Amino acid sequence: MKSIAIVLACAAIALFAVGAQAQMDRPVQTFKTSAGPVKITPVYHAAVEIEAGGKVIIIDPAKPAVFTGLPQADLVLITDIHGDHMDPDLLKSVSKAGTEIIAPPAVVTTVTTAMPISNGESKKWGAWTIEAVPMYNLTRGPAAGKFFHDKGRGNGYVLTYGGTRFYFSGDTEGIPEMRALKNIDVAFVCMNLPYTMTPDEAADAVKAFHPKVVIPYHYRGQDTTVFQKDLAGTGIEVRLLEFYPKA
Ligand code: ZN
Repeated sequence: MKSIAIVLACAAIALFAVGAQAQMDRPVQTFKTSAGPVKITPVYHAAVEIEAGGKVIIIDPAKPAVFTGLPQADLVLITDIHGDHMDPDLLKSVSKAGTEIIAPPAVVTTVTTAMPISNGESKKWGAWTIEAVPMYNLTRGPAAGKFFHDKGRGNGYVLTYGGTRFYFSGDTEGIPEMRALKNIDVAFVCMNLPYTMTPDEAADAVKAFHPKVVIPYHYRGQDTTVFQKDLAGTGIEVRLLEFYPKA
């Protein structure tokens, strides 16, 4: 009996250590805006946590993301229906009384408490402006004539706070709407095969809209240094952050 207690205690200490380690290693990014700092924490894959003006926005909380040590969300944004973006269990665990959810209509079918927003629409949320922008495949899909992400179903988001514009691509290839984005200060851009695009394709699209800073996310299995090399000399600052912490 005593040995079981010791084993359990050790397991609890180990779990705590892993949680603390994951938290410590998070490369939090802070950006100045005219309304004060915006702090962005990469959590896992497509999941990020944003804090500004005492409010917390979480994008795409989905397992196995670990939010230990981070505050509950005031707002959750969801980009698409796939399990690495829409995860009702984790959504519940990052929420509190009064948490609002904004998502594309295809997600609202499952997450019925979410407010729908479609490509091209925008909403004010506190000091933020939230624009839903297209994300979709041009060529890639599970079979000929099919796409992993159909045009119009999911949302990328452009979030503006204190005049600073943050872009989260969602799952997309280098679509014309992405290439035509204007005045993006900080861009989070996906790159992974077979679902989205290669680091080379992502770099090509990023050159077209020329954000000040770009951060690869949703890049499982890709060599992001290829993306970084492609953008060398363009004046676009590439920040490579760890989105797959080893727990
Ligand atoms: Zn995805």
